[in-house]
Amino acid sequence: MKEYKRIAVLGATGSIGRQTLDIISEHPERYRATVLTAGSRVEDLITAAKKFRPSLVIIGKEELLGRLKEELDPLGIECAAGSKALEECVDHPEIDMVLTATVGYSGLAPTVRAIKNGKDIALANKETLVVAGNYINSLLSESKSRLYPVDSEHSAIAQCLAGEDINSVSRLLITASGGPFRTWTAEAMAVAEAKDALKHPKWNMGAKITIDSSTLLNKAFEIIEAHHLFGIKAEKIKAVVHPQSIVHSMVEFDDGAVKAQLGVPDMHLPIAYALGESSRLKGAERKLSLKDYSTLTFEEPDIQRFPCLGLAYRALHEGGTTACTINAANEVAVSAFLRGEIRFGRIYPLISETLERTSFISNPEYSDYVAINEEARKKAEEILRN
Ligand code: NDP
Ligand code: MG
Repeated sequence: MKEYKRIAVLGATGSIGRQTLDIISEHPERYRATVLTAGSRVEDLITAAKKFRPSLVIIGKEELLGRLKEELDPLGIECAAGSKALEECVDHPEIDMVLTATVGYSGLAPTVRAIKNGKDIALANKETLVVAGNYINSLLSESKSRLYPVDSEHSAIAQCLAGEDINSVSRLLITASGGPFRTWTAEAMAVAEAKDALKHPKWNMGAKITIDSSTLLNKAFEIIEAHHLFGIKAEKIKAVVHPQSIVHSMVEFDDGAVKAQLGVPDMHLPIAYALGESSRLKGAERKLSLKDYSTLTFEEPDIQRFPCLGLAYRALHEGGTTACTINAANEVAVSAFLRGEIRFGRIYPLISETLERTSFISNPEYSDYVAINEEARKKAEEILRN
């Protein structure tokens, strides 16, 4: 009988995907990578496939399929390409768990399909819960699949909640590094460019989440994500700026006790905790040395300079498709910002103008999220052009 768990790594060439493959490679007795996917970095995907020998490998860009097959056909590895293949790959019979580490809205469809197929999920792609958290929860309630958060804050909260009664939670305190603009003036932030925003002080991550961290929209997304994961009301979830990024989040209970999870800022731990279904792996390379952190500080976030943070509460109070629209507008804004077409100060106005102009559906079904995502993108593109 097989002893190891078979993992589909969606987004295998990215920051989370590569760190997941590190863990799989260090623990062959526990894990195998049976499906690998990527968007366009075909050479990195080929290198990973040669090392991990998965059953199936998929590249998003169809024109790169020939290159993939050239290298992997001789090894007997099945190859496919395109968005349909990226979604359908979760049907593969040799998968026990799907790790979702693609960026943005693209994470939703394969996650929905995996839950419908009863596969467990290690969720890095937070946008899935931001866009369609209620829908995902209703699917989970009818499925045998279980969902484990990879995001470090949510992993920290899950670790603090182990053995506790969720009804005795009074607040979730989600820590934020504050990003590269924590000490900048509003005037300087308004004209900041991508090169400034990409200098994250603590975490080395993909470009999109690094920009989201600089606007604090990433923290807004994490508040929404926490609401859907743990069933805690918006007003009981707070962001706390903690520049050292050692406390990964905290849970406050009714009796005043506060539990925190601490560790070095390194995603290997939360990824491993999710792959292990909330169990711990031995052999961490980096352990926390408290003498290196004689001072831990905590500040209120500045909502005036970081208005994106407030979008979490608007999204959770309005419900429906508001968060889906925010996510779509942000994806358009972040792409334009990374291409140098807009300055930092345009990101929030672009999202709020898109919200004003996009339809709202209060009780969305899956097809409504698809439609609103498209509508909001079109509106955001129009606003950008004018
Ligand atoms: P990266 O940009 O580093 O990697 C993204 C991966 O997804 C790459 O393999 C990329 O392929 C692939 N990809 C991107 N877009 C698509 C698409 N449309 N279809 C198919 N594949 C696609 O991102 P990160 O690893 O930083 O982030 C992944 C997710 O995890 C995000 O949702 C992020 O918010 C979340 N997350 C990340 C953290 C981190 O530390 N990085 C921490 C917490 C959450 P290719 O490059 O080959 O084109
Ligand atoms: Mg996080």
